[in-house]
Amino acid sequence: MIVTRASLVLLASLLSVPALAEGAAPALELQPGAAHPGDLVMVTVRGWAPCPSATLGERPLRFYEIPGGCRALVGLTVEQQAGPLEVRLRAPGDAGEDLVLGTLEVLPPNFNVRELRVARKFIKPSPAQVRQRRADQRAFEKAWAQPFIPPLFTADFVVPIDSEVTAPFGDLRTFNGKKQSQHYGMDLDGRIGDPIRAANDGVVVMVRKNFASGNTVLLHHGAHLFTAYFHMSKMLVKPGQKVKQGERIGLVGKTGRVTGPHLHFGCKVDGLWVDPASLLAMKFGAPAMLVVEPASVQRPK
Ligand SMILES: [Zn+2]
Repeated sequence: MIVTRASLVLLASLLSVPALAEGAAPALELQPGAAHPGDLVMVTVRGWAPCPSATLGERPLRFYEIPGGCRALVGLTVEQQAGPLEVRLRAPGDAGEDLVLGTLEVLPPNFNVRELRVARKFIKPSPAQVRQRRADQRAFEKAWAQPFIPPLFTADFVVPIDSEVTAPFGDLRTFNGKKQSQHYGMDLDGRIGDPIRAANDGVVVMVRKNFASGNTVLLHHGAHLFTAYFHMSKMLVKPGQKVKQGERIGLVGKTGRVTGPHLHFGCKVDGLWVDPASLLAMKFGAPAMLVVEPASVQRPK
């Protein structure tokens, strides 16, 4: 069934869901229009006020207001199955039915898979290492637990070092077809001492020497979007410090569990590590890649 704008307004008032803004046509914009598992996705709903409660597949969307609409940044898990994924507007109360605003096309994964010939040996960590890992984990949890605030940036993200990608996001190691480990960031080549620059404006939420990630800086860019910089030789920022895009935040190193100097660049959104390449490709100012016109707004079957 096709739902017209008039019937949407009526429906909205009946269900007491957020109403359409006066004079605006509701439209869903998705960027990218088709995404891979592990990608960052931007969902923009124009013509709704205040921001509705909505989901992409199973994941709730956390909207912030933009002029004329609402926007959410959300990640696809690396396990996400290919196929259409619905953006649903949640109707509050038990009388309500969800509205399907549109669908995101999920493409098959394109991760590099390397089958290990022998199972990775379990090396028993020392009690001191176990304690440090636990303390690191608590420090990360604390860093991620930031209040949800609108974005602190306006420009698109930039790569922290202009160098070659030596290992992309998602590289998968398997043994007997079973996942052993996966790479949740992008490795960028570098020499010890090369400057690492903030990918965008934000606030420093971690400056810490960790067991596995070595000297680590985490930036919060608002909207529960974080960038991570691992294995630094030197950290040049303080916790709580505001940084601007392009500002030097540290130097390339090989601290933590690594074999050679490089920058491991990570991106976390709403609790999920996503492909930094999808963050770097995202156009925050430009019109969305896929616009779902109001006529395609459908009720769930
Ligand atoms: Zn890495």
